[in-house]
Amino acid sequence: MSRDFSKVRRVVVKVGTATLAKGAGIDRDYVAALAEQLVGLRKRGCQVLLVTSGAIGLGAGELGLTERPSDIRMRQACAAIGQPVLMHEYKRAFGAHGVPVGQILLTNDVLSDRAGYLNLRQTVETLLGLGGIPVFNENDTISIAEISKAFGDNDRLSALVASKVDADLLVILSDIDALYDKDPRKFPDARKISIVEKITPEILEGAGAAGSTFSTGGMRTKIRAVLIAEKGGCTTVLAHGREPEVVTRILSGEELGTVFLAKPRMKNRLRWILNSLPQGRLTIDDGALEALLRHKSLLPRGVTAVDGEFDKGSVVLVNEAVKLVTKFSSEELRQLAGKDSLQVAQILGRKDVIARPEDIVFLDTGLTLGLPD
Ligand code: GLU
Repeated sequence: MSRDFSKVRRVVVKVGTATLAKGAGIDRDYVAALAEQLVGLRKRGCQVLLVTSGAIGLGAGELGLTERPSDIRMRQACAAIGQPVLMHEYKRAFGAHGVPVGQILLTNDVLSDRAGYLNLRQTVETLLGLGGIPVFNENDTISIAEISKAFGDNDRLSALVASKVDADLLVILSDIDALYDKDPRKFPDARKISIVEKITPEILEGAGAAGSTFSTGGMRTKIRAVLIAEKGGCTTVLAHGREPEVVTRILSGEELGTVFLAKPRMKNRLRWILNSLPQGRLTIDDGALEALLRHKSLLPRGVTAVDGEFDKGSVVLVNEAVKLVTKFSSEELRQLAGKDSLQVAQILGRKDVIARPEDIVFLDTGLTLGLPD
């Protein structure tokens, strides 16, 4: 049964700013109720990781600002002020149950860096082993890209965390209660979709179309998050955060929100490639792209342009369609681009390819050219 979560052993819960807020501050009762539910899950043998937003909003509240600041530096300063306030509330709420919380602030590049990720993973495991709850947020004070985006990205962060720690379930709590078959504000007969087995082009389009209320950025970032989580073998549930006892009820199989079923877990390395920030770009010709689709390696001959500066071993984006780990630096690639195997062998003193199939991932489907698990 697809709403049977009795076997879930590791869950990531993401809670959004609007859900946590009360006026200019934080809703202490809400945080207490959430903590109680999460502690309840732990008692049932399920490890819990929390991803929280709210730092900027709380910081703005502390400063007595009447509006959420739009200036980047101001937002970062607000995050710096709001983050400890946020943690203080979690410490109080979980502390009431004798459960320690550990703050983990992340940036995109940390998650893209393999060594950084391995470190992170060990810290998280240790924290969980100590019976603690890791509480994640983006390190907004130094991470400009995230907070300057129109659509907040803690949805993405939560999916990346879920994927990195091999969670079985991601619960995204926000003011969006479910996915609908059409815009519920325009169509009174719009129906909630309880279970999504596969994200179809229609769902993607619905979530991304401009001007439709049903498809606000909120839903778009959530669907993107689902796409990240599902490849990690993680099911996602979107639900309204203010529904009483929402997490407990979802875990016990109640039909709340929308469930997006996981896909078979993609290999770690391929997930890392897929979810990494590309360090540069390559353009390749149609023949080379077709060869990749036929599970072949990428050869220097097919490369027509190299953008950016990167080292060998970096993840690069190819024709906006593929990510791969390049065996050559940008400097070497500029020398090798367009050269046939013989010329490559002359330049390098050996034969080599840019990337082998097991280091190549197609973005649209997450289809990998490597061998299946
Ligand atoms: N990291 C931001 C904050 O704590 C929120 C980003 C988001 O909600 O996506 O305020």
